Amino acid sequence: MTTTTDTHCPYCSLQCGMRLHGEGSAVEVVERPDFPVNLGALCGKGQSAAALLAPGARLTTPLLRERPAGPLRAAGWDEALGRVAEGLAATRRTHGADAVGVFGGGGLTNEKAYLLGKFARVALGTANIDYNGRFCMSSAAAAHRLAFGLDRGLPFPLADIPETDCLILVGANPAETMPPALRYFRELRERGGKLIVVDPRRTRTAEQADLHLQLRPGSDLALALGLLHLVIADGLLDQDFIDARTSGFEPARAAAMAHWPERVERLTGLPVARLREAATLFGRAATGMVLTARGPEQQSKGTDTVGAWINLCLATGKAGRPNSGYGCLTGQGNGQGGREHGQKADQLPGYRSIEDPAARAHVAGVWGVEPDSLPRSGRSAYELLDSLGQPDGVRALLLMGSNPVVSAPNATHVTERLRALDLLVVSDLVLSETAQLADVVLPAAQWAEETGTTTNLEGRVILRQQALTAPEGVRTDLRVLRELAERLGGKGEFSDDPEQVFEELRRASAGGQADYAGISYRRIRAEDGVFWPCPDEQHPGTPRLFLDRFATPDGRARFAAVTHRPAAEEPDADYPLYLTTGRVLAQYQSGAQTRRIQALNEAAPGPFVELHPQLARRLAVTEGELLAVTSRRGRAVAPARITGAIRPDTVFMPFHWSGAGRANSLTNPALDPTSKMPEFKLCAVRVERAQAAGQTQPAGQAQPARQTQPAGQAHAARPAHPKKVR
Ligand code: SF4
Repeated sequence: MTTTTDTHCPYCSLQCGMRLHGEGSAVEVVERPDFPVNLGALCGKGQSAAALLAPGARLTTPLLRERPAGPLRAAGWDEALGRVAEGLAATRRTHGADAVGVFGGGGLTNEKAYLLGKFARVALGTANIDYNGRFCMSSAAAAHRLAFGLDRGLPFPLADIPETDCLILVGANPAETMPPALRYFRELRERGGKLIVVDPRRTRTAEQADLHLQLRPGSDLALALGLLHLVIADGLLDQDFIDARTSGFEPARAAAMAHWPERVERLTGLPVARLREAATLFGRAATGMVLTARGPEQQSKGTDTVGAWINLCLATGKAGRPNSGYGCLTGQGNGQGGREHGQKADQLPGYRSIEDPAARAHVAGVWGVEPDSLPRSGRSAYELLDSLGQPDGVRALLLMGSNPVVSAPNATHVTERLRALDLLVVSDLVLSETAQLADVVLPAAQWAEETGTTTNLEGRVILRQQALTAPEGVRTDLRVLRELAERLGGKGEFSDDPEQVFEELRRASAGGQADYAGISYRRIRAEDGVFWPCPDEQHPGTPRLFLDRFATPDGRARFAAVTHRPAAEEPDADYPLYLTTGRVLAQYQSGAQTRRIQALNEAAPGPFVELHPQLARRLAVTEGELLAVTSRRGRAVAPARITGAIRPDTVFMPFHWSGAGRANSLTNPALDPTSKMPEFKLCAVRVERAQAAGQTQPAGQAQPARQTQPAGQAHAARPAHPKKVR
């Protein structure tokens, strides 16, 4: 029977509406023009998302590794879950509950993120749960909470963007990461608004700007301080707003005054005239917004950097007012909801602190356990990965919806830590690079095969509806968690019905900051999504935050007293260049899915090193020649792509690939002290022609378009399973 189902894209945080039309697994993506966020527009990733739904394109049977270092072989679910439950229980018995770790993902639905958090705290009793969203938006989240008392990526709908008079986009490249969102920026300029883009590269987004500030990597904090300095010097402060709605301006003002234009020119590499132009455009605009993405956030000073941009908004009265404010463009599909409902090491559902006695009592009541039985805060994502296999670290890991072999910083080290585990269990829909290391691989159902909610970058809770039945042999993550909880014989009830889980999530979040109590599947269907907080069924939801008061105890937004400091690693004689990393249009995150889709692979078949013609001349490098890029942590090899769109002191690599061209072999795990965000966005490197460096190995090639090995056959042996790799 042919069916048509309204649902949403499985990839980025825009969560574009789409329709799936067809029969059985032979479905195609068609436009859904009535969903307000994207009005039917989709990028190539969304258009091709159905390609992985075919049974031959993904895993359809559990895989078990023959010990100690044999190949993966097909197994039944009973045997696989038995191995997992026995392994987790044995680790807990021998080494204690915190020796069992759980690692989630920002792509998991709210229901999965919620149940995973409950599973960790109730069924396993471990404090050590965190997720890859820590690598994406955690610095913006921390700065948001410090300034406004609440973290929601955008405090206004995307539809407000065209109405603002001046928008500063910092370290964001939506033209490649979420193309359908570009219409909001285009409409802004058509209305006469100004667009300023801050980026070390002249990206496709920067090409559309009225002003492009091509700053030195890692100097975003100095730039924000310098712009505030100029706003103050030019008398463009909104003193009435500062007096009425903020606190802590004086230390922020003093810090800004220490960042005079010539000093900021030296720090950022931007001429004073450009700084003045930007300060005047933003300071004189009646309304304005600052939106950040990973550029300023993925730094060891990311929280302070975002705080400095918020300061600029507050000082000019551009927050808590219509068509004004600061926002973060989240990255992953459920980057927002994934951080609200309990898969973060320090949080319980509803964006509650796990250290807050009242929060513990409320959530424990919903879960039917004693508050004292809930663990306290655990290790953050990189700290957790770094502890794997260590005597006092995590010895057995359950990993859902993440591929850290490709996506974690200092990835060679992280891979060694994964190999040192006593037990690695991976639930995924494909045999990702991380799944290839696992002792047990559980084939998971995908976005279109199960129902669940996500929360997009606007804070709009939306419903992905099941459109087809998963192939025989595949199970949902909710079912896996329920069955494991039963086998572990723990406390608490675990449903595998998404709507029932969501109903429980509503109760658990009630009264918290991310309050979903008034949101139901019925309302989401009827209203094109509902914005949280929404405390009861009569509440209309909250598309715009902070218009009357901020969410701090006194209702005032707080300035951040921050000052410039260098990156954890600046270029020097041995490593004289900056490396910055990012995404390309046709690939998504670690590429585990998109590298398996032929059309996307043809558009973006492998890694590359972008470098300026001046640098290429200095190195005597020609277009396409293999380059070796070396940092203090490792080496990557990829072909040169020579372009005037990048600074001469900087090279760029996309991070979607594994193998020799893996960008994250190079990146620095130095953590922001507040958010624990690693410094993905910049590190110091040396670049050489690969031949000169004695490296002739080609860069990591794209994965096959389809998983060619039948799921029932044995898979490649994992390299020896060393228990103590340092
Ligand atoms: Fe999917 Fe994001 Fe592309 Fe929209 S912009 S189709 S959500 S990947």
